Amino acid sequence: MKIAAVAIDILEVPVEDAYLAGGRAVESNWHILARITTDDGAEGFGYMVNTRAQFIPSIASAARELGDLLVGLNVLETEAAWQAMTRAAKWVGPGGLLHWAIAPLDIALWDAAGKTLGQPLYRLLGGFRDRIPAYASDRMWYSLSLDDLAASAADHADAGYTAIKLRLGREATPAQQAERARVAGEAAGLGVTVMVDGTESWDLPYAHLAGRALQDAGVKWLEDPVHHSDIAGLASLKCALDIPVTGGENLYTLAQFRQTLEAQALDIAILDLFRIGGITPWPKIAALAEAHRIMVCGHVVPEVHAHLLAAVSNGHMVEYMPRSNAILVDPPVPVDGMFVLPQTPGHGLVLDNAAVERFRAS
Ligand SMILES: [Mg+2]
Repeated sequence: MKIAAVAIDILEVPVEDAYLAGGRAVESNWHILARITTDDGAEGFGYMVNTRAQFIPSIASAARELGDLLVGLNVLETEAAWQAMTRAAKWVGPGGLLHWAIAPLDIALWDAAGKTLGQPLYRLLGGFRDRIPAYASDRMWYSLSLDDLAASAADHADAGYTAIKLRLGREATPAQQAERARVAGEAAGLGVTVMVDGTESWDLPYAHLAGRALQDAGVKWLEDPVHHSDIAGLASLKCALDIPVTGGENLYTLAQFRQTLEAQALDIAILDLFRIGGITPWPKIAALAEAHRIMVCGHVVPEVHAHLLAAVSNGHMVEYMPRSNAILVDPPVPVDGMFVLPQTPGHGLVLDNAAVERFRAS
């Protein structure tokens, strides 16, 4: 059960249909892949993903140094491993680059722990249920024309999703934002919930105007209307609107979540597996949210987030926007908008080794 070896690789995985996000051409999903082997032969892997190339070598270098600290530790002692990594590097943390470097290692550790115990991750973490609803947010970019947005929304509805989420930017008027939501909703049809993500693009006065317009257009979820540091602004939106104000994907620490939730600034908390530093902190933040009687969601990485959300009693929905299917054998896909958890040990994902070799950048 002792960790015998840790390997880190950088992969440049091409995006099938390159897209514009925030005015930036997105052509690759950069992965930092961590693989852990134990002395009794269990193997686990994890990765972090980002569309920006900048800092990937630095994060990989940090992950290699942190991985060296894991050798010799018991693979089941995940909290000890996480604390060893954060304490050794506390002068560059918490949060930031440090958490991005820890995340792939921590996910690999939990995968290896699950394989050691012969249990799927969702059960290891609590096993509240074995399936979780998913919503679709892929190909719902702000840069799409209204026709392309409508086509994506209709595709998602045809695939059986009962909820979709589109991203909104800063250029349009509140009425134009509401129009995009209305067009997407009409294309998806009755019975499909429309959610929007403001991607932290707005100032507070604009967010109030847009929030009301979107609410009137039938939108049922307003994510990241303002910057996450504007906690009072979020709380004022939560008070003023009847629809849930959601957010949290840009927060790094348990303490940041505490500060935000204590201020009654969110109706639903969104956790980003990479920013928070992997799986180990995840149930702590979910429990904090439970204490505030709010639900949690995951930001992308549906193949791992499905386990985490199914493990806890306040898991809401998986965001289905896969970024890593090109390096996985038979990646899990929601059926009729429902993600059913695999019963295989660990996270249940299988690396496509030929693809890993093909996309290896260093
Ligand atoms: Mg978002």
